[in-house]
Amino acid sequence: MIEDNYKQRGLRNKLVKKLRQKGIVDDRVLEAIGKVPRHVFFDDALLGHAYEDKAFPIGEGQTISQPYTVAFQTEKLEIKPGDKVLEIGTGSGYQAAILVEMGAKVYTIEFQRKLYENTKDFLPKMGYNPFFFFGDGSKGIPAKAPYDKILVTAGAPVIPTSLIDQLSEGGILIIPVGDRDKQKMVKVKKTSGKLIREEFDYFAFVPLLGEQGWK
Ligand code: SAM
Repeated sequence: MIEDNYKQRGLRNKLVKKLRQKGIVDDRVLEAIGKVPRHVFFDDALLGHAYEDKAFPIGEGQTISQPYTVAFQTEKLEIKPGDKVLEIGTGSGYQAAILVEMGAKVYTIEFQRKLYENTKDFLPKMGYNPFFFFGDGSKGIPAKAPYDKILVTAGAPVIPTSLIDQLSEGGILIIPVGDRDKQKMVKVKKTSGKLIREEFDYFAFVPLLGEQGWK
């Protein structure tokens, strides 16, 4: 049974306020963050930290991203209900839950078998049903392409060309690109076959592994 009491809802509302103060303006993103119970993604030992604006360990050397980072990437994707979204780096499933909550049709891929299995088992119990894949997401999932939006939740050394190829016309890719410790957030929009690139602040993600990631 997943408990979500008034105290947790109160902490979540505070987190939403904080994200608004930090510059997140998309009400639909904030609404989704206000709805998805982040504490259920945490181990008992870390439960008290679930509504801090920080990344936390989820096992296998990986992390659940900081709420601000989740909100920032989701806002830049300009999600509309019905959008077909590819997420690379399922991790805890929190980001996928936010996207499903916003009405997107989500394909999510994870490279670490244990995380893939845990999240595939756990997320549907919360009522969130993205399509789960196991494998190297640095190559995308060509069999299910094209995607309206692609979201990479691990730091890449360069933008994988296969991800650009799998974007639909008008599609948006958001990806942290840089070195292993720190990456610049990059947004690429495909418009009339052309690529429009925008760059934002630096973030710190775990590395994107695989053929088009870090070796
Ligand atoms: N989106 C996640 C969440 O909401 O919890 C956070 C993900 S964590 C910051 C990055 C994830 O990317 C890790 O789970 C890692 O195993 C995964 N990853 C790294 N390289 C990958 C690849 N080539 N394909 C798929 N997943 C990958």
